[in-house]
Amino acid sequence: MIDAQGRPIHYLRLSVTDRCNLSCLYCRAEARVEPLPREDLLSFEEIVRAVKIACELGIDRVRITGGEPLVRQGICGLIRMLRENCRISDLSLSTNGLLLADLAGELRRAGLNRVNVSLDSLKPDRFRTIARGGDLARVLAGIERAREAGLAPIKLNTVVMKGVNDDELVDLALFALERGLTIRFIELMPIGEAITSGLWPTAHLSATQVQQRLAAEFHLLPAEATPGSGPARYFRVEGLPGRIGFIAPLSAPFCSHCNRIRLTASGELRPCLAHDHGLSLREPLRKGDEDRVKALFLQAVGAKPPGHGWGEDRETLTTMADLGG
Ligand code: SAM
Repeated sequence: MIDAQGRPIHYLRLSVTDRCNLSCLYCRAEARVEPLPREDLLSFEEIVRAVKIACELGIDRVRITGGEPLVRQGICGLIRMLRENCRISDLSLSTNGLLLADLAGELRRAGLNRVNVSLDSLKPDRFRTIARGGDLARVLAGIERAREAGLAPIKLNTVVMKGVNDDELVDLALFALERGLTIRFIELMPIGEAITSGLWPTAHLSATQVQQRLAAEFHLLPAEATPGSGPARYFRVEGLPGRIGFIAPLSAPFCSHCNRIRLTASGELRPCLAHDHGLSLREPLRKGDEDRVKALFLQAVGAKPPGHGWGEDRETLTTMADLGG
């Protein structure tokens, strides 16, 4: 599938649940949000049918996400079904890691290639403050089990927040570098709870600022991208096996290379992370109308905007100028 900008779209972000067992400061409201009724969620059979059609249209990479994908009952079964029915070259999953220690082996055996684990702090109390719950020790155990299970490469995702966790950049980088993991420092984005909680824009730090701080500690050498590297720039440090990456959706947007489309847990196809509108596949999937599902994929790809547009409104522009971003 090629969109109106000429971008080849071959990567599907597949949300399998709207539920999460954490409510991170930058992502999710703390007040209990009513989860979607079960009947609104796509069943595993419906998900597989949608992914199979997506693959026939050219999707070859799938990342399972959420909410927190590991809270969806039977997730390993879904991965097995995707492996058996769809031609996917790279099947990965993003997780907060809380349930990973228990599931890593089974996920690997079901056919998952690799995992990305969110890790915003190595301090247990701070971890709980940022995630508004959870247990850092469980996440660290999950990372270890994932390594043992051969889910490689393991990538850690750190959302950098000024005044919240930016004093841990060096410790987090060392944690990854010494263990042969890849850590990606991500710029805080103006979405969801980041806006409501007031973190955006005050806690935003540009990837350049983060890189400068790390360069003061490590001699950063440009590194080859790891498999499935997407929009990050990567660096290595002589003598240490891990990698450091920077993802800069705001200061260096990668929209012109965006190859993604998203499918929500309720079956809505969304062409862009920054836009809430989408096209629903649910009814045609339930009716078994494959031609309609195919047509909706092509329509969604056709409607993919050129960019996220975060720099285009006056308020964001001013803020980014203030930040030197
Ligand atoms: N629960 C899974 C996890 O923790 O990876 C998957 C879903 S989570 C929304 C996916 C990624 O989005 C996480 O790495 C998280 O850090 C990132 N994210 C969420 N809100 C963000 C924001 N406002 N700015 C930057 N990254 C954000």
